[in-house]
Amino acid sequence: MAVYRGPVCKLCRREGVKLFLKGDRCLSAKCSLEKKEYPPGQHGQGRIRKSEFGKQLREKQKVKRSVLMTEKQFRIFFKEADSEEGPTGANLLIKLETRLDNVVQRLKFGASIKQARQLVLHRHIEVNSAICNIPSYTVKEGDKISIRKKSREINLIKDNLEENEDAVLPEWIERDSSKISGKVLRKPTREEVTLVGGDIEENLIVELYSK
Ligand code: SF4
Repeated sequence: MAVYRGPVCKLCRREGVKLFLKGDRCLSAKCSLEKKEYPPGQHGQGRIRKSEFGKQLREKQKVKRSVLMTEKQFRIFFKEADSEEGPTGANLLIKLETRLDNVVQRLKFGASIKQARQLVLHRHIEVNSAICNIPSYTVKEGDKISIRKKSREINLIKDNLEENEDAVLPEWIERDSSKISGKVLRKPTREEVTLVGGDIEENLIVELYSK
């Protein structure tokens, strides 16, 4: 399946929840979901009845879309989560939360997941002092994530850092005083996963993929 390149606000309206794909705009009155709280399309305002399968599918789509992953990529993550010790659903969410692109967003280097992924793909981000251009890289305890020296003068990055100088970060990561690098202090817990605002019923995803 190809990468989705259409308007991302439509994805939120389809899922009926904020997926926070547009940075600060998502928290403002300009958010499309605030204005149109119904799914896109001709029948968007009709009554929708969901079967058990429908609920499972929507939950999976909601999470998958919040990290802008394809079905193939998402399934690979699920398989890996399933092979790890502990509950598969929680493992999956923690794996998604600790993807490099997501951490770059959490450190406020990028304003949205899309922007954070571009920064990684365009080689602006280093992990432990080496360029890492793999958005799906799973960060580990002790990893140092920083903005490449050459990239620190890029306006977009400078603006993001300026606007988020005093931002409160999740407790499992920290930024250094210069704000241009951060460290993974530990693995987040399931409760610390903030994708889709943390409102996820991961058991539905596990049930869907276990059929
Ligand atoms: Fe658009 Fe963000 Fe609102 Fe979603 S949460 S509809 S991406 S502005």
